[in-house]
Amino acid sequence: MREQANLFESSMKHLWLPFTQMTDYERDPLIIESGEGIILKDSNGKEYLDGYSSLWLNVHGHRKKELNEAIMEQLDLIAHSTLLGAANVPAIRLAEKLIEITPANLQRVFYSDSGATSVEIAIKMAYQYWQNKGKQKKKKFVTLTNNYHGDTIGAISIGNVDLFHRVYGSLMFQTLKAPFPLQYRSPYSGEEVKERALTELRAIFREHHEEIAAITLEPLIQGAGGMNVMPGGYLKGVEELCRKFNILLIADEVATGFGRTGKMFAVEHEGVQPDIMTVAKGITGGYLPLAATLTTEEIYQEFYGEYEEMKTFFHGHSYTGNQLGCAVALANLEIYEKENLAVQAAKKAEVIQSELAALKSLKHIGDIRQVGLMCGIELVQDKETGKPFPWESRMGYHSTLEMRKRGMLTRPLGDVIVFMPPLASTNDQIRKMIQIMCDSIEAVTEKEKSFV
Ligand code: PLP
Repeated sequence: MREQANLFESSMKHLWLPFTQMTDYERDPLIIESGEGIILKDSNGKEYLDGYSSLWLNVHGHRKKELNEAIMEQLDLIAHSTLLGAANVPAIRLAEKLIEITPANLQRVFYSDSGATSVEIAIKMAYQYWQNKGKQKKKKFVTLTNNYHGDTIGAISIGNVDLFHRVYGSLMFQTLKAPFPLQYRSPYSGEEVKERALTELRAIFREHHEEIAAITLEPLIQGAGGMNVMPGGYLKGVEELCRKFNILLIADEVATGFGRTGKMFAVEHEGVQPDIMTVAKGITGGYLPLAATLTTEEIYQEFYGEYEEMKTFFHGHSYTGNQLGCAVALANLEIYEKENLAVQAAKKAEVIQSELAALKSLKHIGDIRQVGLMCGIELVQDKETGKPFPWESRMGYHSTLEMRKRGMLTRPLGDVIVFMPPLASTNDQIRKMIQIMCDSIEAVTEKEKSFV
């Protein structure tokens, strides 16, 4: 018990947690000590179901034997050497594998170490591609409302989540903003929402295409921007407009990649071939920080030439292509193949869909959005009108605290509860987590009499 108190004191004294108001942590601390399967255990010995895959990354659960072994085998060879000017064995093998499993037009892999860095690379690659090609005017980026691509300055510039990004306004580069085809609270049908959004995008492309380098989006479902699902056909529509107006399509698969949506990559649902694709999170099964930016041979060739031609891509991080990360990613992808995980995920998604249906009748649940194992449950004050709770009431936050008490972890996005369990979750575990969410949401929203 003393040890526990010391840990907490020390964490309050020395740690600064990401995306966390530290007074919240001070009131409701949580210190994770171990994990097994999809269960996390804190330093008091209390257990929790991992309802958010330890922030959308974990795939096979914690302490997966094959992944542990892959890291240990690699440790016996080498932990890290630089990829600047020199390749390494697991980085080459993993690149081969990534090229094999991603859309056919993607032929080159550029590594980094987080989703945000993979996005920075995508931005700089797209920008320099046009410069190297002699199209100097093509410098602008188009983004969709509520896009989220990470927290570095480039990534927030092409992001669009007001709460996170507002304060950094003058640091960010300007983008052209197109509406996301948002269906909830819209008076139009999904088809109309799609057509209207594509019409607005077409108008932006038509007017500015000579200055536009690329458009960035999260295919099929926006994550941190609120778990917003694109109406069917929108993604394909964007690809067609990109081809028509000679604009690069950057698909950010950091959250959606590696089976999360019920296919290996979300773009596969609509047969879309992006010019640049970013991946991270699930790439190592949730073990080590590794990311990649994949692109076409055509883009790569614009950077290829003699040094004096000044076409080099001057970008790289110290841990780029780290051997431990690449080795565990390879072992992770082997399990995907052996267990046919993307197909299994699609089946689990059906179980989730039917179980979540029970939540629809709750008085304060306005909308349930889901693609595969990516779900958002939106809490509202008034179900009929979709009127939100006052933001200060933090219903999402309090609901997730209640879930924690009842043995499950997740984080909300405002009043949208995120449910993103590891792909390895059993149907029983899925049912248990949904029951906990249901009971907790009911307990918290019903308690708040002023809103009932
Ligand atoms: N892109 C998307 C779509 C994401 O969801 C995230 C993180 O949630 C990122 C990029 C940033 O990834 P990271 O947190 O690894 O920098």
